[in-house]
Amino acid sequence: MKKVQTLSLLAACAVGIAALVLNTSKTAEETSVSKEPLAVKTLTCQHMVCNIEACDYEVEEGVIPNNSFLSTILQGYGVAYKTILNLVEKSKGVFDVTKIRSNQPYYVLKNKENQEIDYFIYKQNITDFIVFDMAKKGTKVYSYERPVVINEKGGSGVIVSSLYEAVEESGMTSSMAIELAGVFAWQIDFTRVQPGDKFKVLYEEKICEGELIGTGNVQCAILTNSGKEFHAYLYNGGYYDENGKPLESMFLKSPVEFSRISSRYNKRRRHPIKKRIIPHLGTDYAAPKGTPIIAVADGVVTKSSYTGGNGKYVKLKHSSIYETQYLHMSKRGVKVGEHVKQGEVIGYVGSTGLATGPHVCFRFWKNGVQVNHLRQDLPAADPLDEATLSLFHLERKDLRNRLEKTAFSPAV
Ligand SMILES: [Zn+2]
Repeated sequence: MKKVQTLSLLAACAVGIAALVLNTSKTAEETSVSKEPLAVKTLTCQHMVCNIEACDYEVEEGVIPNNSFLSTILQGYGVAYKTILNLVEKSKGVFDVTKIRSNQPYYVLKNKENQEIDYFIYKQNITDFIVFDMAKKGTKVYSYERPVVINEKGGSGVIVSSLYEAVEESGMTSSMAIELAGVFAWQIDFTRVQPGDKFKVLYEEKICEGELIGTGNVQCAILTNSGKEFHAYLYNGGYYDENGKPLESMFLKSPVEFSRISSRYNKRRRHPIKKRIIPHLGTDYAAPKGTPIIAVADGVVTKSSYTGGNGKYVKLKHSSIYETQYLHMSKRGVKVGEHVKQGEVIGYVGSTGLATGPHVCFRFWKNGVQVNHLRQDLPAADPLDEATLSLFHLERKDLRNRLEKTAFSPAV
């Protein structure tokens, strides 16, 4: 028995990272049984594979071929049929072997002394593994989860062209742009961000054995848009501004994420096709054909139809006061009478009807009259009560301190 080595950061299951850099090219014929290992790597004793010391083994990595069973893969490695049956039996309650998915990585640990397979390890996702252990007389099947640590991190950026690019520039994962846009979706129309707008954010990141595997919640963020500061603090699962007012409102600012306004609400607009003054009673959001159009608020579908001017369109009723309408769709996604949730996809951007290019003409109705939705002071979600509000302010101060203590690059 070898002495247990000190675990390094490259501990359990890190073999995946080492082996992935090796050749994994695959030919079209390699679809049935993977007899040829796709990668072979002999690891030193510093490496652990799902808490198994790697020094006694040759570790091979492969991916589950299409339409294959655990049994055929193991047979390909010379595992006895009886052992396979035992493993299948032992897997009950741990993992359903029929759910093994093609193209998922696996690892085979071959004993250096007798060349027998001691372990077959199936990778379910970045953190979860199933270990088929045939090292000892009896077989064992168990799951192994890589430990995940959540760190708090700060990030900042200055917008040159888009929030998305600014987030990428700052070194954060691009999903943070979607997170931030989601947090401020009720306050800021991201089609109107200006060069020089900036943000700083305190967020969680998930680290697994030294490797960044994803981001968690935004804890707090300050975004400056056209010189005005917008604050967001996470409290009890929701976001609030610096006064404890909920950020969520009944309406989203825009029906298409990451689009651009191509024409504003204008009562004296010259129509691009009819070439005369016709009031434009909506806001046009240009986006590529097929971009999802989302409901800006919960509501019921009152129209889902077609006219020569509107093209394919959908109209929603949100309350006795408010209705919204979405024109020129390439495809409608809802039927009359359906209930939709805020953010739900109701159709796709197109250029049906009188339209010069793919866009959604968004119309906002208040008491039966079409108004400019960007000028409305729209109702917010339920406010915090007095007692909760004082607790919120304690939490807000703490979050703000943590945000301000973060060293930002670039400084904002
Ligand atoms: Zn329009």
